[in-house]
Amino acid sequence: MRIEQNYSLLKHNTFGLNVKTGYFVEYDNEADLQRLLRDEYFFSQQFWHIGQGSNLLFLGDFDGVIVHSAIRGIEKVEETEDFVWLKAGAGMDWDSFVDHCVQNGWGGLENLSLIPGEVGASAVQNIGAYGAEAADCIEEVHAYFIETGEKRIFSKTECKYAYRFSFFKQPENRGKYYITHVVYKLSKHPELRLDYGNIRECIGAGAATLETVRAAVISIRKAKLPDPAETGNAGSFFVNPYINKEYYENLKKRYPDMPHYPVDEKMVKVPAAWLIDRCGLKGKTKGGAAVHEKQSLVIINRGNASGKDIADLAAEICRIVKKKFAVELQPEVNYI
Ligand SMILES: Cc1cc2nc3c(=O)[nH]c(=O)nc-3n(C[C@H](O)[C@H](O)[C@H](O)COP(=O)(O)OP(=O)(O)OC[C@H]3O[C@@H](n4cnc5c(N)ncnc54)[C@H](O)[C@@H]3O)c2cc1C
Repeated sequence: MRIEQNYSLLKHNTFGLNVKTGYFVEYDNEADLQRLLRDEYFFSQQFWHIGQGSNLLFLGDFDGVIVHSAIRGIEKVEETEDFVWLKAGAGMDWDSFVDHCVQNGWGGLENLSLIPGEVGASAVQNIGAYGAEAADCIEEVHAYFIETGEKRIFSKTECKYAYRFSFFKQPENRGKYYITHVVYKLSKHPELRLDYGNIRECIGAGAATLETVRAAVISIRKAKLPDPAETGNAGSFFVNPYINKEYYENLKKRYPDMPHYPVDEKMVKVPAAWLIDRCGLKGKTKGGAAVHEKQSLVIINRGNASGKDIADLAAEICRIVKKKFAVELQPEVNYI
């Protein structure tokens, strides 16, 4: 188990904030995690488990223990003529896992290429992009309940997946389960999903295969989103709000070009980016934080932002959007 004291989290958050934690603890096997969960000193502190910090906003230094999994590796746990089941370590880099699947001809995750983060967080966040989400392929999530130290294996149904949501994000469960492994079920005869974003156009006349879909998604994402290695950001800052149909019809009279996606009989989903754009907020700054010039859903660190600058800018965006549309935006990013 690796233990660091008074440790900088600069390399552990994609906003590029140089915040410090009292302790940084990294385990690379379940026995060490179990030992940590029996440690009285650990529980006398405040603590939080992180992945790569690509969906986190540290509001300041963390006076406690930041925990990280270095359990990596992939194990094939089952295989049939049509499917393969892979158990991946929670600390494994997500895109390396997707790449491994694509290279082996196992489909299901290719549209989720290049999403930053780790395998463990994919199951917490139910990451999604280009018509796919992690829950489409998740079979099991292996986790420890920190209050008792007991191991629990969650079926997909028990994970209660919904749009960017899971059991692990429910307020009563938030931060209480440490995920060690996720079992993904991949298809040996995948149906490719090309009708999202510009995937089809990007592939052009070439053959649509797992590799070309992955290459197309990577190239679209690189053109669209700022690279956190160059410009600190956490991807989409807000989730797309759900509004009831009646209210949407009202808004549509004023804004006929307002995009929407049906959710069920009562609700529709509206792109948060469109709402922010319509408020003229692209490029808006607060201290060292700014709304990205091209992607209004992305808040960037211009180089010298504090966590507070970013949170203040996010709060102002919410206030302005609410005033204009009476729609409440919720951050996708976790505030720590
Ligand atoms: C440029 C950019 C683009 C992005 N694009 C997308 C996108 O297209 N789609 C999308 O869905 N997201 C996107 N994101 C957000 C982000 O990539 C995902 O939310 C990702 O899953 C976060 O992974 P992470 O390992 O960095 O987790 P962190 O941000 O460190 O943590 C996220 C949450 O998971 C929890 N967690 C992490 N690991 C564990 C574990 N082992 N056990 C228990 N809890 C854990 C943390 O406590 C926290 O609540 C983007 C981010 C960036 C910076």
